[in-house]
Order: sequence, then structure tokens, then C-alpha cells
Amino acid sequence: MERKRLPISRCPSCNYQFDSATALENPDAKPKPGDLSICLNCGEWLTFADDLTVRLLESKEFQALPHHIRKRLDFGRTLIRRQPWFGTLGRKDKK
Ligand SMILES: [Zn+2]
Repeated sequence: MERKRLPISRCPSCNYQFDSATALENPDAKPKPGDLSICLNCGEWLTFADDLTVRLLESKEFQALPHHIRKRLDFGRTLIRRQPWFGTLGRKDKK
């Protein structure tokens, strides 16, 4: 998997800063506006804006997604929240 460089962005939920993304299934994919993402730090569901920074995926947007996509987002969030790094990435108090 190759990380794709992006403009510096912050998760609106946990403030985790990042400048890359990894596509799980298509290593050559590069995010485009409207694509979905999950914060690696907190598992929040995100979507790419026109400038390829991210914003929170609104509840109504989530509900409008096909069932199989909602299930995958939910699965991704669950996996991230089970990881030992959950909520600790980018914390200033972490040395
Ligand atoms: Zn986050």
C-alpha cells in the first residue's frame, strides 16, 4: 500500500493532524472530493472536501449511503477503536 500525500488536514473530532491517506483496496487510488475516510486516531467517519482536507460525515449523509458501505464504515471504526494506539496518535503529552 502506498500512502497518498494530501494537504495538511485535521480530524474535526480529535484534532489528529495528517497529510496522507491509504486506500485499503486500491493502492493506486487517490482521494477525491466526496470520498469517505475514517480517522486513524479516533475512528470518526470523514469525507474529503473540495480542497482534499476532511470534514465530519454528517449523520444524514451516513444514512443515505448504501447498506454495505455503512457496514464497512462501522467495521473500520470498530477495528480502529480496538487498537492500542486508539486516541493516542499525535497527542502532545506523548513523548
Ligand atoms: Zn479523529
